[in-house]
Amino acid sequence: MDPRPPHILVTNDDGVAAPGLLALARALLPVGPVTVLAPDRNWSASGHVKTMHRPLRVWPTEIGADFPALTTDGAPSDCVALAILGLVEPAVDVVVSGINPHANLGHDVTYSGTVTAAMEAAIAGLPGMAVSLDSPEGHDGPLDYSAAATVAARLIRQILAHGLPRGILLNLNVPYGPLESLRGLAVTRQGLRLYRDALVRRQDPRGRPYYWIGGDVPSGVADPGTDFGALASGYVSLTPLQLDLTAHDRLAEVESWGLRLDEAGSTA
Ligand code: MN
Repeated sequence: MDPRPPHILVTNDDGVAAPGLLALARALLPVGPVTVLAPDRNWSASGHVKTMHRPLRVWPTEIGADFPALTTDGAPSDCVALAILGLVEPAVDVVVSGINPHANLGHDVTYSGTVTAAMEAAIAGLPGMAVSLDSPEGHDGPLDYSAAATVAARLIRQILAHGLPRGILLNLNVPYGPLESLRGLAVTRQGLRLYRDALVRRQDPRGRPYYWIGGDVPSGVADPGTDFGALASGYVSLTPLQLDLTAHDRLAEVESWGLRLDEAGSTA
């Protein structure tokens, strides 16, 4: 094994000033040298982004007391691409994204900037892990990220020792509470998120309609073996994800429809 400690890129989707980012970066320092490159603003729920039609700026900043960081006007996945393509040296070995202040479960992974940053690492063939905290809804005051940060650092050490298969990324969700309150680690599958979105239609002061996707806070189905189920039982949830979204068990079914490109096919 390479004796050199891994160069860790830490990013997030909440912006470089978010406290979860600093907590994660600090916790990872004993694992290897850390470079922080995070967006200059909040990109939560921005999905997987590649900025191609405008230049990206990068500038140095500080997070916390004297913790050097880089920031950019790009998206979380841009941060990962910039760093991996050679913006930082030495070469990045692993990408850790977070800590997001809310859980990323079920279908959330397609919306989440935290998770799509780890996806960008997987595309580049590097190990990536997204870290999210299942903070209670309506929590008042600053969140305590210490347990999630400690768990992330402990797991990343072990994961790097094992080696993560190419194309796989990890989605880590940690229950809210002190380290001692965590009941254990569960390797899970994606559960089912229940969104309760509702379209709000209003009028602007000039009489034109505008729309807002509102509604209630989403819930989820806490089935055993799922990410939701693990958190509901007080377990840390670790879900291996892949970018191959093919519905492999449905290929034969769609094949059996006998779809055709000629006119006869459209009327058959
Ligand atoms: Mn976020």
